[in-house]
Amino acid sequence: MNVDINEILDLLNQKPTIKGKNLLEKAYILAKEAHSGQKRGSGEPYFNHAFETAKNLAIFGFDITTVTAGMLHDVIEDTSVTSDEIKDKFGEEIVFLVEGVTKLGKLKYQGRERHIKSLQKFFIAVAEDFRVVAIKLCDRLHNIKTLEFVKKEKQKRIALETIKIYSPLAFRLGMNKLAKELEDSAFKFAYPKESKMVNELLNKKKKTNEKYLEKVWRTLKTELAEHNIKAIETHSRVKGKYSLYKKLQRKNMDIDKIYDIVALRVILPTVEDCYRTLGIIHSKWKPLPGRIKDYIALPKINGYQSIHTTIFTGDGGIAEIQIRTKEMHDFAEYGLAAHNTYKDGGKIGWLQDIKSIEDDENFITRLTTDFLDYRIFVFTPLGDVIDLPHDASAIDFAYTIHSEIGNTAQAAKINGKHSALKTILKNGDIVEIETNKNSKPSKKWLEFAKTSIARRHIINMTKEQNIIKRFFS
Ligand code: MN
Repeated sequence: MNVDINEILDLLNQKPTIKGKNLLEKAYILAKEAHSGQKRGSGEPYFNHAFETAKNLAIFGFDITTVTAGMLHDVIEDTSVTSDEIKDKFGEEIVFLVEGVTKLGKLKYQGRERHIKSLQKFFIAVAEDFRVVAIKLCDRLHNIKTLEFVKKEKQKRIALETIKIYSPLAFRLGMNKLAKELEDSAFKFAYPKESKMVNELLNKKKKTNEKYLEKVWRTLKTELAEHNIKAIETHSRVKGKYSLYKKLQRKNMDIDKIYDIVALRVILPTVEDCYRTLGIIHSKWKPLPGRIKDYIALPKINGYQSIHTTIFTGDGGIAEIQIRTKEMHDFAEYGLAAHNTYKDGGKIGWLQDIKSIEDDENFITRLTTDFLDYRIFVFTPLGDVIDLPHDASAIDFAYTIHSEIGNTAQAAKINGKHSALKTILKNGDIVEIETNKNSKPSKKWLEFAKTSIARRHIINMTKEQNIIKRFFS
């Protein structure tokens, strides 16, 4: 077997079958031959790009079938090899994936309208089979890592597109490790000055924080042993540079207000062990108020589960600890790839909704507010969880519950307090809408309605009212 293939096989999470290995080797040979003579901007053989894309897929948790399709991802578009040939040699599933990637095309920026069209295609493909987009994301990662060889004027556009569209999509699919790598690799091309500043701050802070964590871990290890809790793994994770930059912006660029630059991760066998460990930590060190987050009981919208707490280390330091099971950890790093959901065709429920976005004009804005941006969780008085984009107001909540509740909304009660419909909701708010059957939507609501569903109803209803007014005046 080829030595290079072994490099990829070693990275796979699941042991591949003999048949899988043979197919990957065949793909390696075919891609190498088909791309021979072609060169990348860096002067390297083009085949290296195919190989690195396949390798990325293995690194980020995909199975050998997806990896094999990744090796072949540019073959139909850029060489004389045909779809039929791929189908004969590799079967239905692999040709479906390679054709999917080919159809997505290169997402070239050719005027705003065509750009939006190609993005739309991109998201519809996610709904069809998310492995196609996973290949595209891993292809993009290698392109970003070799971006220095691309013309200067194109670099920024590609880097920004990666940060604004590709990486949030990877986050939304739960592929956090891949998302982080995409945005960190694009950061210096998208925002060179800011990236330099973050690097300098990070270098200054990282060492001291790691020192505090080491001490915490030494004490915690003894405590866990005394309570008969056995950690599967413990490691420290360093915050991504781009995500640190975003957080700095929210904290007036004050790095001393950021406590999770380095965090200690404790991975445990069971959920019960997680809560017991949290108890041990809080009885040993004082936690910072307001920073205990239980994403095990209340997972994030993308399925992320973990307990986070921040403690005073007792010697002047502050440190974050993340507690989770092995399953939660794998899901946090690899998302859907870890769960093998793609065994039944790689379809995901919420992504089916993307197909319904057809309003070209506002496609990107709507897409980012509704699907990709950071979401918040609020509750109905009965405890049902409603997820909304951050910055959503009480009127968005009303329309998300039911269009009739939105249309007759008069005021809101937030955490038991009377509030206006324009009030911006916060994570964890309990929201109740007061209705009045004589109330009508007002055009003013558009100033604070964020979700497409609320905006659509308000626009329709106020249009109707205008027609009625004109008719009677
Ligand atoms: Mn490619």
